[in-house]
Amino acid sequence: MQGVTIVDHPLVQHKLTLMRDKTRSTKVFRELFGEIGALLCYEATRDLPLENAEIETPFAKMNSPILAGKKLVLAPVGRAGMGFLDGILKLVPTARVAHIGLYRDPRTLVAVEYFFKAPDDMAERMTFVLHPMLATGNSAVAAVDRLKESGAKTVRILCMLATFASAEKLHAAHPEVRIYTAAIDEGISENGYILPGLGDVGDRMYGTR
Ligand code: URA
Repeated sequence: MQGVTIVDHPLVQHKLTLMRDKTRSTKVFRELFGEIGALLCYEATRDLPLENAEIETPFAKMNSPILAGKKLVLAPVGRAGMGFLDGILKLVPTARVAHIGLYRDPRTLVAVEYFFKAPDDMAERMTFVLHPMLATGNSAVAAVDRLKESGAKTVRILCMLATFASAEKLHAAHPEVRIYTAAIDEGISENGYILPGLGDVGDRMYGTR
């Protein structure tokens, strides 16, 4: 599928299966969420540009590669997006964090914004949208629209699950935005949940249901 990388690494697939199981405890669900986030980020940052730094080891001077350019921006979307954040920050601790407060109107499934805050210099930074459940695609499109309005130029999306339809919707609206997902599921229910999916990830992560 165009613009989509399915991260089929065995560790990701194993952890995803553990998360799908409805008997998983809130604590373990939350831990697995962060671990998969870090593994997706590892894959999505594979082509980050490097430059050489002149350093001195205890034995000799050398030129050695370090990340080039400004720090990355992580942009969690709503409650679910926070599930990825801590795990990814362990991997890229210097990243900036933009917050995109969006919730899905339960009746219309349209994305409604309640908060937005991003660094001023978005144009100079690569942005990773943390959007675990690409279900209707509406909030992912709205999140990328909003980030572009605030100047973002290079945007990638990290998901736990997507569907063909939601990935296509995002691709139609933002063809240059690459999606990294652990799996593509069958579709969505009439109230907008991915099937077979993971359930309501916010509720499972925070133990609110
Ligand atoms: N949000 C969730 O928490 N789960 C879904 O399946 C879709 C959106």
